[in-house]
Amino acid sequence: MKKPEQLLELRRREMVEMLKRYGIADRRVLDAFLEVPRHLFFDAAALELAYNDGAYPIGFGQTISQPYTVAYMTTLLVERCSSGKVLEIGTGSGYQAAILDVLGYSVFTMERVVELYERTGALFTKLGLHIACRCGDGSLGWMDEAPFDGMMITAGAPKEPESLLEQLAPDGCMVLPIGDSCSQQMTVISRSGNEFRKEVFQQFSFVPLLGKEGWHDTVF
Ligand code: SAM
Repeated sequence: MKKPEQLLELRRREMVEMLKRYGIADRRVLDAFLEVPRHLFFDAAALELAYNDGAYPIGFGQTISQPYTVAYMTTLLVERCSSGKVLEIGTGSGYQAAILDVLGYSVFTMERVVELYERTGALFTKLGLHIACRCGDGSLGWMDEAPFDGMMITAGAPKEPESLLEQLAPDGCMVLPIGDSCSQQMTVISRSGNEFRKEVFQQFSFVPLLGKEGWHDTVF
């Protein structure tokens, strides 16, 4: 009989096979998904769900994103910017930040919900991950650490936050979902000096980016 750890590893391999069938092809991304144990970012009571392709509640009305969504966004980033400093907005469970860390980026992540920031920060420490976390409104970015080579917003934005554009390195790129409260289009903004080029991709559905340059709390 297989031990629980072996079963979870088997489920992780199955998840990666599923991502391949869904079209995720970048070897670096697939290897990162094999390496990071997603179940460690889950509530112990829900471990059996950890390798399903689902978004699940993590408390405080927030979710851990679906593996396919995380893989899709990570691929868009890796293909355009494969190293350097990355700022993630929306730490949540910490899974996306851990994937970026394993890919070799220097990771900075921001979360507005204090309890999630504290819980996930403690998890990073326990797992020995050197990920810099900050609690606050990520729509305004992390000025002291700018510029960033890459940025990833893991919450739905009404439009690209100006403050974040300003904190992008001159050849940096930002991956973010833009749209309304129901659905958003995955968008990549690439900077070249003072010019910004926009590419749009598939539709997704995220919890809202709340903040000064996101949605106002009163809208939701
Ligand atoms: N990346 C996360 C993961 O791997 O679990 C999933 C992120 S969850 C879909 C979106 C997160 O964005 C929530 O935790 C939410 O509290 C956070 N968020 C929303 N608006 C924010 C803001 N202005 N600044 C920082 N975090 C924000």
